[in-house]
Amino acid sequence: MIDIENTEIFQINKYTIKQFNKSSMNITFISDTHGMHDQLQNLVGEVIVHAGDVSGRGGLTEIEDFLNWFKKLDFKYRIFIAGNHDFYFENAPASDVAQLIPEGVIYLNDSGVSIEGIKFWGSPVQPEFYNWAFNRKRGVGIKKHWDLIPAHTDILITHGPPMNILDKTTTGLHVGCEELQDAVLKIKPKIHVFGHIHEAYGWKEIQGIQFINASVLNERYALVNAPIEHSVKS
Ligand SMILES: [Zn+2]
Repeated sequence: MIDIENTEIFQINKYTIKQFNKSSMNITFISDTHGMHDQLQNLVGEVIVHAGDVSGRGGLTEIEDFLNWFKKLDFKYRIFIAGNHDFYFENAPASDVAQLIPEGVIYLNDSGVSIEGIKFWGSPVQPEFYNWAFNRKRGVGIKKHWDLIPAHTDILITHGPPMNILDKTTTGLHVGCEELQDAVLKIKPKIHVFGHIHEAYGWKEIQGIQFINASVLNERYALVNAPIEHSVKS
């Protein structure tokens, strides 16, 4: 386990980040909208990625409301994973979930998709904390999920952060997943995006990997953070 807490955090100018490039795939990253998705504005790019917690309590009505908004966004590809609040996705039979996902929306659950040569992988699991959705025990229980991530992954989407990377709570605790840190530093995706720890929103580059905590809400569930835009070359 390396100490990567004290590396630089990129300056985030709220709602004004422009990293887009004409010759690359332009991706907008958001996370933890908790039902407030329709307040987001100026979402642009070819791909939008949501790293989980689309709802407040994870009921079907809330999930449907999110999906109705998400499917209409002006993007070529729309990808999302569930988070610890999104109970519906863990409790409903897989066939019901499959039926619910609208055309034009890609739902990842320990699964991947290749888009125009860029390989995405998504997983909703996070270390156990009380009794939320997609909780797994730290250690071997959660490592099983990270072992599924293909060695060639360009964009890794998880709901929770890796240990010591954009994972510090307001009480000063690092609550990220140790096993996920090991996995991501080995796999070296171009981008690892997550949310979950709202107050740790931001962007860091470590060992050539762009780490993005894309939580748009703060720890009080106020929408204060900008979607994060980034370009990726295939
Ligand atoms: Zn959240």
